[in-house]
Amino acid sequence: MTAKNLSILGSTGSIGVQSLETARKCGYSVSALSAYSNVDIIEKQIREFHPKVAALADENAAKDLKLRVADTDTKVLSGLSGVCECAAEPTADTVINAVVGIAGLRPTLTAIDCGKKIALANKETLVAGGQLVTGTAREKGVDILPVDSEHSAIFQCLQGAPSNRALKKIILTASGGPFFGKTRDELKNVTVADALKHPNWSMGQKITVDSATMMNKGLELIEAVWLFSVAPSKIEILVHRESIIHSMVEYDDNAVIAQLGLPDMKIPIQYALTYPERIESLTGELDLAKLTTLTFYKPDHDTFRCMDVCRDAITRGGLYPAFANSANEQANLMFRRGEIGFLDIGELTERVMNEAPKVQSYTADDIDDADRCARELVIKYAKKR
Ligand code: NDP
Ligand code: MG
Repeated sequence: MTAKNLSILGSTGSIGVQSLETARKCGYSVSALSAYSNVDIIEKQIREFHPKVAALADENAAKDLKLRVADTDTKVLSGLSGVCECAAEPTADTVINAVVGIAGLRPTLTAIDCGKKIALANKETLVAGGQLVTGTAREKGVDILPVDSEHSAIFQCLQGAPSNRALKKIILTASGGPFFGKTRDELKNVTVADALKHPNWSMGQKITVDSATMMNKGLELIEAVWLFSVAPSKIEILVHRESIIHSMVEYDDNAVIAQLGLPDMKIPIQYALTYPERIESLTGELDLAKLTTLTFYKPDHDTFRCMDVCRDAITRGGLYPAFANSANEQANLMFRRGEIGFLDIGELTERVMNEAPKVQSYTADDIDDADRCARELVIKYAKKR
């Protein structure tokens, strides 16, 4: 079913703003908007899209917003419960979760409980809680459509395949980020500004740093395991510098199917909203004759350890991925604040991932506990350095 009424969580961020551009172009109405604390942007969005409800997770910012939009019909809520109410807004048929980080987990679970279609950009939710999220979605008959460009590509390459039986492997492409080709020695003293210079994509700061460490590709490997029910051993990472092929699948008969397009997130956002239909795009056309080359490289696993940390975490299962995710969220934040070095992100993430308790299954509360514990460990180990 094509989306008609949207609830957009994380509306002030990179994916949130592009989701609203898509809504504007496709003529979808917006029933709910939420963010963390960006009052200026969400106020403008409320005045343009007239949602029934809006929420800011930060209580003080929500108080300010309430005063600013008192002349509108939008109800303003606050805190995590407010964001979850946006996910549950009865007039919305589709929830776009574009929150950054594990903060997106409860709103995703709320949206599933309410039977909404979910367009998921918030990969951390699947990384930390994949078993819970996909299990609950299956029980409720809820579709989770990928917004992440690689997963949108894989989803498209799998259309028409009868089952995963003949799927030999998924080839997850990676741009390689700003530090492609560098040695660990050369990465010792890189700055936050260096890490924020992504060659192909303009994104929020957390994911841009994740791309520089290649943790992003590790998170995406775990995301693919849950979205497509494949074993981690069937997912291969391939560096493709141009970000034109967004990922590929290879079948048992050695046929390889790829999805290509310009690196523009509005393409996968729109597809998640119009699936199974396709409509004209806001974005430019891919002119293959103008591309002189498409290049491919094996990733450098010694320099960019985070990919293997994530592969190890999902192979061990249980709460290992949740520990890896939250340790990385904390270390990524501390790097951006100038508190630790670039290489410390991967080292701390690996060390803390290894300390996850061994469990078979978990609840949302267990993930919250894992989140707290992993962050505390990162802070403790970072102090000792
Ligand atoms: P941004 O940092 O640009 O935006 C994050 C959004 O989440 C903002 O609206 C922010 O609000 C909100 N937010 C932050 N913390 C909380 C919280 N605790 N509770 C509620 N809302 C919160 O991130 P991106 O748009 O880049 O990324 C969003 C997600 O999409 C991430 O999971 C990322 O991995 C994924 N993704 C992003 C891509 C991209 O191109 N940007 C590509 C593929 C996936 P505020 O502005 O008020 O802080
Ligand atoms: Mg991606």
